[in-house]
Amino acid sequence: MARVYNFSAGPAMLPEAVLNQARDEMLDWRGSGMCVAEMSHRGKEFMAIAAEAEADVRELLAIPANYKVLFLQGGASLQFAMIPMNLLRGAESADYLNTGSWSKKAIAEARHYGKVHVAATTEASKFTCAPAQAELNLSADAAYVHYTPNETIEGVEFPYVPEIGDRPLVADMSSTILSRPIDVAKFGLIYAGAQKNIGPAGLTIVIVREDLIGQPIPGTPTMLDYKIHADNESMYNTPPTYAWYLAGLVFKWLKNMGGLAAMAEINARKAQKLYDIIDASSFYSNPVALSDRSWMNVPFTLANAELDELFLKEAKAAGLTTLKGHRSVGGMRASIYNAMPEAGVDALVAFMQDFERRNG
Ligand code: PMP
Repeated sequence: MARVYNFSAGPAMLPEAVLNQARDEMLDWRGSGMCVAEMSHRGKEFMAIAAEAEADVRELLAIPANYKVLFLQGGASLQFAMIPMNLLRGAESADYLNTGSWSKKAIAEARHYGKVHVAATTEASKFTCAPAQAELNLSADAAYVHYTPNETIEGVEFPYVPEIGDRPLVADMSSTILSRPIDVAKFGLIYAGAQKNIGPAGLTIVIVREDLIGQPIPGTPTMLDYKIHADNESMYNTPPTYAWYLAGLVFKWLKNMGGLAAMAEINARKAQKLYDIIDASSFYSNPVALSDRSWMNVPFTLANAELDELFLKEAKAAGLTTLKGHRSVGGMRASIYNAMPEAGVDALVAFMQDFERRNG
């Protein structure tokens, strides 16, 4: 069976070259006589795999030396709790920007540990734009400011990094990390579940400035203390070894592709192709403000929702899968992370135009 173009929001496609390499190395990783999944995480083979993956992601994102890179479990959702537990550091409250379904979840979780001051919200617009810098109503005593640079469900992406003075900026980059270069030094903490732009589910990456960790709230479980993971190179307990290895292969692939500046060019072009045909038609639409549209998640609706099922059925038959929008917003969503080839976007564009011709 031929591989499909899978537009899932996550777990999402992995680069074919990575899957081929994983297959070739499956039974015997480079003469070790073992699959990576069978290796001791403390053995020299896996230690080398782990160190190389970290070095590569540090190089890709140009991560400064005073930041730790942690390879954790529990998904981005566990970070919703670990962040207030570790970063409140005696303060009463933190600022959160409320820009969509995922920031809402982060806010709800943080409220278990401290006060949340919502410093901006775009809920009145049904989360179809990012707030402007001038609209951020930051409080003086916030321990940190949390935001979601890319809202995976609504398809809204901040076109700028908020300026917040010297408070630590915390970013849920689950659905945008590695899509373009970023200036890590602007952030106190960056986190991302792996299953969109990094590798398979089961791995969560946290990039955290060293001086922010080590003061968790009393009662924080050992496994939820960043300092424990930092001091133990993410091997306090058994890490998700195979996912870490696959993430390492993805980092190598990104380097071969020319790094994040090259990916940014491709990603901008892929997204523009979709937005162009959506905007050129009255058959498809996308509600998000032009300046705040996501490069990674492109939601769109059909003017006649009765055609949704037919659209999905025919798309699937054409090898274009998982285009159904999130149940909370309906319609369609094309997630086009790094591993979605441009040819996949071209195929979707051609299908959408043909579908409109036949049904418009
Ligand atoms: N934040 C964002 C922006 C997401 O897109 C997701 C997953 N779709 C999550 C958090 C939750 O991630 P996880 O399933 O890894 O907990």
